[in-house]
Amino acid sequence: MKYTPAKPPLTGETLDSLTEKLRARGEPTFRAKQILEWLYKKRARSWDEMTNLPKTLRAWLADTFELLPATLVHGKQSLDVTDKLLLELGDRSLIETVIIRAPQEGVGLEHSRKTICISTQVGCAMGCKFCASGLLGLKRDLNAGEIVAQLLQVCYREDARTQRAREELASFDNIVVMGMGEPLANYDAIIRALTIVNAEWGLGFGARRITLSTSGLVPKILQLAEEPLGIRLAISLHGATDEVREQIMPVNKAYPLAKLLPAVKTFSEKHGRMVTLEFILIEGINDSLEQAEKLRDIALDLHAHVNLIPYNTVEGLPWKRPSITRQERFADVLRAARVSVTLRREKGHDIEAACGQLRLKTEKERELTVA
Ligand code: SAH
Ligand code: SF4
Repeated sequence: MKYTPAKPPLTGETLDSLTEKLRARGEPTFRAKQILEWLYKKRARSWDEMTNLPKTLRAWLADTFELLPATLVHGKQSLDVTDKLLLELGDRSLIETVIIRAPQEGVGLEHSRKTICISTQVGCAMGCKFCASGLLGLKRDLNAGEIVAQLLQVCYREDARTQRAREELASFDNIVVMGMGEPLANYDAIIRALTIVNAEWGLGFGARRITLSTSGLVPKILQLAEEPLGIRLAISLHGATDEVREQIMPVNKAYPLAKLLPAVKTFSEKHGRMVTLEFILIEGINDSLEQAEKLRDIALDLHAHVNLIPYNTVEGLPWKRPSITRQERFADVLRAARVSVTLRREKGHDIEAACGQLRLKTEKERELTVA
């Protein structure tokens, strides 16, 4: 379903596109920079705050753009480490953005590793059998402005929390594109959004600290490899053979491993950075030692990092995580071959798991909060 907002969001404009629109109105070119500075650096929440702009220009801006296309319905600090922002869009769709603060040994929350997980679609069309987003199907793509707005909402939240407001976004270690949706199925919007996030005139967040996760849309991975942006890539592998992967990920029919893995290699060689292979461990599905051996070979060949994620139960789905012993035995096969591997066991601390769990809850929360 296509969604056209009544007014385009200001958060979807690049410096060039905004300059162009202002030029058409006869405004001097420096205005675009001023406006974006109000939005991203000074964090203005209304047009009236933009006091160095003429009143007539402010009135025109208010008529022409939506300042922020996502409003906070509520923010819930559900676990000490996970802060979920439930956001409502112009058509009343709900999305979630998550702040994950993983405390480090011996230091307080202030020094924790901080990650923001953003969504790119309302629902998802890929239909992975283990994922709650797959259950909902795709409602629509987010536009670039809605993707950027999630990060501004995180900024507002941090501004309210600490004194060091302006530096707060830079203090995040990572932005992960691992929330609801398949980002590469909404390619133009995610590239435009991340360009804004990365740009000096935008949020100024380093591309090397942004990771995009995909279920494996091969042509788009190759296209991404050509982008100058330089973001990092994670692949939702979840099966080390076609036979296993196909059972849980329908996308594997169109893009089996023989197509996916060479595309990942191309990306990795172009960028000179390790790609991450995400592998959710699901009991009785992909947790055998044969799968571990196959995964080890793939990781060695791609020189990739492997992130093992114990499956997080989704209501209404039959899957379970394997026992800790079984998880460790699986990881040991990779460790023995000196594959770079992480296996996180603390519930809620795992970023992918926390993101992967948003899905159904979003709709449930709507019943609780919006109805
Ligand atoms: N669509 C993209 C990005 C969003 S999913 C992708 O599939 O990569 C982000 C991550 O959460 C993926 O690795 C996904 O497989 C994982 N995930 C989904 N459901 C999960 C669950 N119940 N437990 C743990 N991880 C899950
Ligand atoms: Fe979509 Fe990713 Fe969930 Fe698959 S794992 S259904 S691609 S969000």
